[in-house]
Amino acid sequence: MSRLIFETMANPPSNRCGYMWPPDHEVGNYPDNQSCCWRPALSDADRCAWHSDPNKTDKKTIATLQESRPDPAIRDQTNPGAELLGGAVLAGCEIRDSISLFRVLFQGADLSGAYLTDADLQETDLSDANLTDAHLVFADLTNADLIGADLSGAYLYNSDLIGADLIGVDLSGAYLTDADLTNADLSGADLSGATLPRTDLSDADLRGADLTEATLYKADLRGADLTDADLADADLTDADLTDADLTDADLTNASLSNTAASANLERANLTRTDLFDAHLRGAEFYAAVTTDTQINEGTEFGDHYVSDQGTISHAESQQARWCARTVEQVAEDNALPDTAREAFLTRKRLKRREARDEGKRGTWIHLTVSELLMGYGESFKRVLISAVVVIGTATLLYPWLGVRPTGEDSAKLTYPALTPDAPIQFATELVDTLLTAGYFSVLTFTTLGFGDLRPVGFGRVIATAEAGFGVTLFALFVFVLGRRATR
Ligand SMILES: [Zn+2]
Repeated sequence: MSRLIFETMANPPSNRCGYMWPPDHEVGNYPDNQSCCWRPALSDADRCAWHSDPNKTDKKTIATLQESRPDPAIRDQTNPGAELLGGAVLAGCEIRDSISLFRVLFQGADLSGAYLTDADLQETDLSDANLTDAHLVFADLTNADLIGADLSGAYLYNSDLIGADLIGVDLSGAYLTDADLTNADLSGADLSGATLPRTDLSDADLRGADLTEATLYKADLRGADLTDADLADADLTDADLTDADLTDADLTNASLSNTAASANLERANLTRTDLFDAHLRGAEFYAAVTTDTQINEGTEFGDHYVSDQGTISHAESQQARWCARTVEQVAEDNALPDTAREAFLTRKRLKRREARDEGKRGTWIHLTVSELLMGYGESFKRVLISAVVVIGTATLLYPWLGVRPTGEDSAKLTYPALTPDAPIQFATELVDTLLTAGYFSVLTFTTLGFGDLRPVGFGRVIATAEAGFGVTLFALFVFVLGRRATR
């Protein structure tokens, strides 16, 4: 520090400020000695322009602040820091960009509610400073030291915090819209309820940071380290989390997507990440690491590209299928059969769509039949409906194509002729015919064949086909049963 201004002394003359920094100095502490402010005291206060209480003087102006500063040439040569201004009191003061604060030592300064809009605070030491509700819009805080500073409720829109040291800083409720925090160290920082839409946090260190209820809409978190971070109830809609590390992070009830946009989690590390009740509909997480990822029934996953509308590329389809497979795996690990089933169906439908778009007719037919008959082996209902359709269709066909009771001269089963004069007799005969045909159809389907009725003519073709369907659908029924039991 500049020896022109500071001297270590116990009793400063009365016309000097005499503020001692650090105020509670003890032998052995850093820095190794206490410095006394040698700036002239203001005429209406016992401290200098920087150290006097703004409420007790009318002379704290930009002019008096400037006058008590050393020559810029001297500031340039001083190390560490351009000027020692520790413990300065600028609460509520309007500084803006009128004074260069580049490289100044502002440790423990009271800058609460100060107007530092557009201020040059590059490399400035603001450790332990009080910056609550400070106006730092468009301020340049590149590589600033903010360790232990209180920035709660501070206005940091569009500010530049590249490489800033923000370890353990209180930024709760701060406004950081469009701020640049690239490479900033925010480990253990309190960002709860902070407003961070479109904020650039790429490669930022956010280990153990508290981001509960933070707004991170469209935030750039590429490569950010969010290990152990608390992101419960955070809004991460449309955020870019490519390559981000979310190991052990808590994303309970976090929103990663809405109807219009969703977050990108490509190649993100989701090891042991808590995704309980998180909204991930449509979120991309291709090639993400999902070892021991925690999900529950309330976790919402996407099923994008499942509808047959529009076209998707082969690569998109492959990635979507990869995601569905991952969800299936994670759901199985978390004992959530319904989620696993949904993801499995998504994967199969994507494959069917892919087969259709790429003209793989055989695969497409196979998958379509599988979907219709049994919902890819997942649906009892589909199998039962298929059985009812087969039995019903055959029932309607038999009186027309040929079934007759066993025995000599017995008449073929036929639909009764429509007799408008005797509607009741017609109805009775029709019901009778359908009951007999239905009885034969069920016997054929189940391949019981009591022998009291037998198919004739083209009826034999239908009966053979029905018996074939019957055996197949029974087998499918057992298959679906076994499949579901093992989920
Ligand atoms: Zn002073």
